[in-house]
Amino acid sequence: MFRQPKVEYKTTRQMLVMREAGLVLSRALDETVAAATVGVTTAELNEVFEGVLREEGATSNFLGYHGFPASICTSVNHEVVHGIPGRYVLQDGDIISIDGGAVVRGWHSDSARTVIVGSPRPEDVRLSDVTEEAMWRGIAALAPARFVGDIGTAIDDYVSSVPGPPLGILEDYVGHGIGTEMHQAPDVLNYRSTHRGPKVRPGLCLAIEPMLVQGGLETAVLADDWTVITTDGKRASQWEHSVAVHDGGIWVLSAPDGGASRLEPLGVTPAPLEG
Ligand code: MG
Ligand code: MG
Repeated sequence: MFRQPKVEYKTTRQMLVMREAGLVLSRALDETVAAATVGVTTAELNEVFEGVLREEGATSNFLGYHGFPASICTSVNHEVVHGIPGRYVLQDGDIISIDGGAVVRGWHSDSARTVIVGSPRPEDVRLSDVTEEAMWRGIAALAPARFVGDIGTAIDDYVSSVPGPPLGILEDYVGHGIGTEMHQAPDVLNYRSTHRGPKVRPGLCLAIEPMLVQGGLETAVLADDWTVITTDGKRASQWEHSVAVHDGGIWVLSAPDGGASRLEPLGVTPAPLEG
């Protein structure tokens, strides 16, 4: 019989520390995104990110994770996720997903944003915008959700409703629970599935992270054992936030406003954690 791995439910006090980790991460991503301009290397972006973590007294959950050599993943153009920062120099029109995490007093956060460098191609703006909105639709669906699977259903419904050339939702990589470790149960699928997942209840903290592609869903891992690329060379985008479910509602831990500005137009008012 299929058994769900055990979910770690958090107390409000624990989620308040996770919010601290989320806010450090949000600031670190702000500065890293601002530094992502033509001529900058992805290694320099990693240095900017690490500088904020150091200032805030936080540590990285990416650095050393199964041997990962940096504090952010930088995935450029047809790289989908897990790209390693290095000597690559950002070019005009590049689309780059920057994924990072921070740990404060043992509690983790995880968040990603997509940036387009220099003059954007309209199809890349659309890719990033739809991926970001898909993430917000998934987060909004968590508020009334009975099961974790409701998130993927909402993301899938939204992406397939967008007019114009279809965008693909990657299935090989999914969101996850987060807490005393970066990656925990349950898996958070970004697509509709007959597997509805565990029940949503207070104390559940999830990283919701849709990855969308302009072409086919097939991916491959480069010889560095990390970088995931689309095999057809089409471009990809990833957006991610860490979100808490608590007694009062939901709160986006890695957004300074808890997600209010993006969730209220979707009919969801996030509720602050109080403790
Ligand atoms: Mg991430
Ligand atoms: Mg994640």
